[in-house]
Amino acid sequence: MIFNTDARVRSNLRAIHPYQPGISEDQLRKEFGLARLVKLNSNENALGPSPMALAAIERELPKLHLYPDGGSELLREALAAHHGLKMEQVFVGNGSDDIIKLISETFLEAGDEIVVPFPSFSQYGFGAEVMRAQIREVPLRPDFSYDVEALLRAVNDKTKLLYLCTPNNPTGTVLKRDEFTWLMERLPQDVFVVVDLAYDNYATDPDRFFVTESALTYPNVCYMFTFSKLYGLAGLRVGYALGNEQVWAYVHRVREPFNVNRVAQRGAQAALQDVEHIAKSQALAAKSREQYAALARDGLRVIPSQANFTLVEVGDGVAAFEWLKKQGILVRAGYPGLESFVRVTFGLDEENELCIGALRAYQQVRA
Ligand SMILES: *Cc1c(COP(=O)(O)O)cnc(C)c1O
Repeated sequence: MIFNTDARVRSNLRAIHPYQPGISEDQLRKEFGLARLVKLNSNENALGPSPMALAAIERELPKLHLYPDGGSELLREALAAHHGLKMEQVFVGNGSDDIIKLISETFLEAGDEIVVPFPSFSQYGFGAEVMRAQIREVPLRPDFSYDVEALLRAVNDKTKLLYLCTPNNPTGTVLKRDEFTWLMERLPQDVFVVVDLAYDNYATDPDRFFVTESALTYPNVCYMFTFSKLYGLAGLRVGYALGNEQVWAYVHRVREPFNVNRVAQRGAQAALQDVEHIAKSQALAAKSREQYAALARDGLRVIPSQANFTLVEVGDGVAAFEWLKKQGILVRAGYPGLESFVRVTFGLDEENELCIGALRAYQQVRA
C-alpha cells in the first residue's frame, strides 16, 4: 500500500523546517561519551534549577495521577500579584513557544503578515508559517540596535502581529524605552505587538524598555516572559504573558485544555519566590559579561549583551563552532545574518574561562 504523505498534508507544511535546537544533553552523551563537556549553546542557567522549585516539584509528585488545573489559576494568581495585575491579564503556556504558537493561531490567517526583527528568535516566523501568514523581516542596525523607523515602514494593512525581542536573542542588544514609545505613538492601533522579554530579568540598562504600569495600559501589546532562563527551568516548560484579558479570552479557545502540567505549575510558582537563586543567577551573568569583555583586548569583537549570552565575532562562525566542539565546548553558530559570529551562553566562572581561553587559542590558529 502507498500513502502519499507529501500530497495529503497541508501544502504550507512542506516548506517548514523544524526548529534546530542546540545539541541536547542526551545527544551529547551519545556523541562524546563521558568526556568533559561545557554546554554553552542554549542559554540555560549554569547554576541549575531553582532549589525552591525542585522542592515544590517533589511535593507535587504523589499527585501525578490527577489532571492539573487546566486554567493554572494558582500560578496565574501568583504571577498577577508579582506584576500588580489581575489574574485575567495573565496567560500561561507550555513554554513561551506554546504562547507564540497560540497567539499565531488566534490572530493569523492565510495572507496576513507579521513583522519581526532580524536576526531574532525563529519561533515568531514558525508560528506565522504554520498559519500561512507572510513574514516581513526587518534588519537590526549594523551595531544590532533596533531600527524602529524600518519596523514601522514594514507595517501595512495586512500586518496583524509585530514582534519585539528585548534583550534580543541572539544579539543580546535591547530596545530603548524611547524607541518603544516612538513606535507605539505611530503604529496603527489594530496591530497586536508581542514583546518577548525572556531575558529581561538579566538586563540592567536603565534606558532599556521594560514593563511598567504605563506599558500595561496599551490594549494591543502583550509582554512575554519565561521560566526557562533565569529561573533555570527550561526542561519544565513554563512561559507566561501579560496583556489584555479580552485577547487572552480568545487565546484560551485555542490552547490545549491542560497545556501546563501539574509539576510545572507548582515549580514555576516556587521559583518566582526564590530570591536567592534569582540574585545568584543575575550576579553570575554580570560577572560573565566582565569576563567576556576582556576578549576585546585580544582584538575580538564582543557584542555588549544584556542577556545571559553574548555574540563573539570569530571570522567563520561554523568553523569556530566545530573547532570549539572538538575541545568539548559547545556554542551556537550558523545564524542567518550572523555568519561571522558564535553565540556563547554564560557558564560558571571556570566554564567561561575555558571558553575564553579556547576562543583566544582559535584566534592564534586562524591568524
Ligand atoms: C529561550 C527563549 C524563550 C523561552 O522559550 P520557552 O519556550 O519558554 O523555553 C523565549 N524567547 C526567546 C527569545 C528565547 O530565547
